[in-house]
Amino acid sequence: MPTSPMKTSVAERFLHYVTYDTQSREGSDTYPSTLKQLVLLDRLVEELKAMGIADAARDEHGYVMATVPATTKKAGVPVVGFIAHVDTSPESSGAGVKPIVHRNWQGQDIVLPDDPAYVLRRGDNPDLEEQIGNDIITASGTTLLGADNKAGVAAIMAAAEYLVQHPEIPHGAVRIAFTPDEEVGAGTKHFEVGRFGAYCAYTMDGEKLGQVDAETFSADSMTVTFQGFNTHPGFAQGKMINSIKVAADFIGRLPKDGLAPETTAGREGFVHPYVVEASVDRTSVKFLIRDFVTPALKEKEARLEKLARETVAAWPGASVTCEVQESYRNMKEVLDRHPQVVEYAREAVRRAGIPLRESAIRGGTDGCRLSFMGLPTPNVFAGEHNFHSRLEWVSVQDMEKSVEVIVNIARLWEEKA
Ligand SMILES: [Zn+2]
Repeated sequence: MPTSPMKTSVAERFLHYVTYDTQSREGSDTYPSTLKQLVLLDRLVEELKAMGIADAARDEHGYVMATVPATTKKAGVPVVGFIAHVDTSPESSGAGVKPIVHRNWQGQDIVLPDDPAYVLRRGDNPDLEEQIGNDIITASGTTLLGADNKAGVAAIMAAAEYLVQHPEIPHGAVRIAFTPDEEVGAGTKHFEVGRFGAYCAYTMDGEKLGQVDAETFSADSMTVTFQGFNTHPGFAQGKMINSIKVAADFIGRLPKDGLAPETTAGREGFVHPYVVEASVDRTSVKFLIRDFVTPALKEKEARLEKLARETVAAWPGASVTCEVQESYRNMKEVLDRHPQVVEYAREAVRRAGIPLRESAIRGGTDGCRLSFMGLPTPNVFAGEHNFHSRLEWVSVQDMEKSVEVIVNIARLWEEKA
């Protein structure tokens, strides 16, 4: 097995990619949401071509796709894909990122020089415990770093280069995709699964060393709308029914000791009121509904509807309607039908000599949408931590292991075919 393939390359690539401002934007009417993402996407095409990957190209939506050709002599080796997103979160600036490498870190506080209020401390970041002696990369204090997901971009690029330079390693065709707009929930909007042409894929967008995520939330949204009756407030006695008060009564009846994002963790689901649009006449409360078990979404929705009906019963003349919209589903429902996809990722981590960590993501990923579009896609670590924050960090050594895991996955699909 290769040990730490392309030892310097993944870090060098990463330090270069983070200097591109690729922040995406909510509410944009273009796709991608910001055109500056295309600058890095085009650069990646150039670099892939320079490696000898002739079919690398970007489409009009911004998606970069490329193929590392198969080296195997076996027939029928499945095509596997690796995917990362180039955009960074709208929550923190991604302009003028100045990455800093803290070599051979010994556990001391890391003060970010451009804003010393930002300090990366061991005590606040339990995952730093296993990084003693490693090279930690941070931003300088005024921007995010962009390790989410440029660590994944760098790992895929370094692995592609390694495979191209080592044709003696047997593997099937490896497909690569770099996507825009993941952070604004549109990363798969124009992703053509058929054109990508892989049997399965791996998003390289996970956190801890050795992590494989094969479960996400199942998610719905629900809108509960209360209808009241408005009239001139000077002549309202006995007539007005203020829907704002009905909705407030309803919200007051929500459980206080559970079922909320702020009171749950691990595998517990929740209902989360996050937007209220209010007027005397009509008030709607929007909810996120989340659970790892899809049928439990229905139970939560039924419970909210019952609570809403009990509420209006206490306000004669008021009425309520409830509307549910499906958002996404737990990728496990798809991955369970293709058990090798996750099993080979686990085996690839073990072969890299690092601890296997499995967790259920309390959210959705592009991979979960892709899985339901016909491309089973679990998520694998790239080493990125403190997503979307100015305290984002990644270690060089974790990124190197991420490269090794990609190479191992490509080998395993050939070996087991
Ligand atoms: Zn990400």
